[in-house]
Amino acid sequence: MSEIALKPVALPAPIPVRELLPWAVFGGLMLMLALYFIGAEEGAASLIHGSYVHEFVHDGRHLLGFPCH
Ligand SMILES: [Zn+2]
Repeated sequence: MSEIALKPVALPAPIPVRELLPWAVFGGLMLMLALYFIGAEEGAASLIHGSYVHEFVHDGRHLLGFPCH
C-alpha cells in the first residue's frame, strides 16, 4: 500500500481591487503613451523633433493599420 499522501494545496491569495487599481491605471497610461507614439507621433503633431520616433515604431504602425505613407 502506498504511503504517499497528498499535501494540501495552498490557494493563491486574492488581490484586492484597491491594490490592483493603481497598477491598472499605470498600465493604461503606458499603453496610451505607446499608442500615441505609434499612431500620432509624426509631422506637425510630433512632440519630439525629427523622425527618429516615427522610424523606430514604423513597423508597429503598419502592423496596427495606422495610415502612414
Ligand atoms: Zn510607413
